[in-house]
Amino acid sequence: MTERTAIPQYRVTALNLGNLKLDKSVLTWQSGEGTLVDVPVWGAAVEGNGLKILIDTGVSTPERWHYMCPVWQEKDETLEAALAELGWGPNDIDIVINSHLHWDHCDNNWRLPNARFYVSLAEWEYAKKPIAIQEKLYRADFNRGPLSVMNYVLIDQDLFEIAPGIKTIETPGHSAGHQSTLLNTAEGLLCVAGDAACFMENLTAPTPPGGMTSATQALESIDKMCRTADRIFMNHDPQLKKYQQSDFPLVPKLAGGASNG
Ligand SMILES: [Zn+2]
Repeated sequence: MTERTAIPQYRVTALNLGNLKLDKSVLTWQSGEGTLVDVPVWGAAVEGNGLKILIDTGVSTPERWHYMCPVWQEKDETLEAALAELGWGPNDIDIVINSHLHWDHCDNNWRLPNARFYVSLAEWEYAKKPIAIQEKLYRADFNRGPLSVMNYVLIDQDLFEIAPGIKTIETPGHSAGHQSTLLNTAEGLLCVAGDAACFMENLTAPTPPGGMTSATQALESIDKMCRTADRIFMNHDPQLKKYQQSDFPLVPKLAGGASNG
């Protein structure tokens, strides 16, 4: 454990950046069809080691996405309002890590002009030509307007170090180039999952989120996160609270797998 104390620790805050109404089976494959659920869109604000980082940037213009599902945002859930709660502004963000490029994870990228963006190369390439059923998810302006490929670092390896104590981890399956983020925190190793898992049921069943490019990869990614991290921050977890900074859920111990911690 002495090793860990030498690595910077980061404070993670849950920012509510919009809400979606979805059929539950979108989040838990073949389970809960016909049941509508309200799910938050979380961004993880990360501070430490002199850095201000945002993992996934949430919803920018809810009305633009009504063709997907009901989308709404309370007054305190705009990017500016949520960051202001931390005393931050959009110009303060040094780094953005996008788990993937589905619209609800990168819609605010263009509002963060000073950030360096980290996306997997596989996701960047996949976003140009996704499978037909995912095309409508890839219409956010993550590479237009003020942003281009020059604003992005395209990651082509597993366990890529963003900064000491922060690494991306490849978790494909929900999308072709999906990545999650591992962070050293006071509560142990926290995995910000993106959409590799949305509900605790994804980890305990285990069952992947319903939207996917590969069920096999999605299940392998769930297993990988559970074996690697102590705790998990899921970017649509309805159990998280606005501005939560501790007590993120523990990952379940998988049968036959390594224990956490
Ligand atoms: Zn997604």
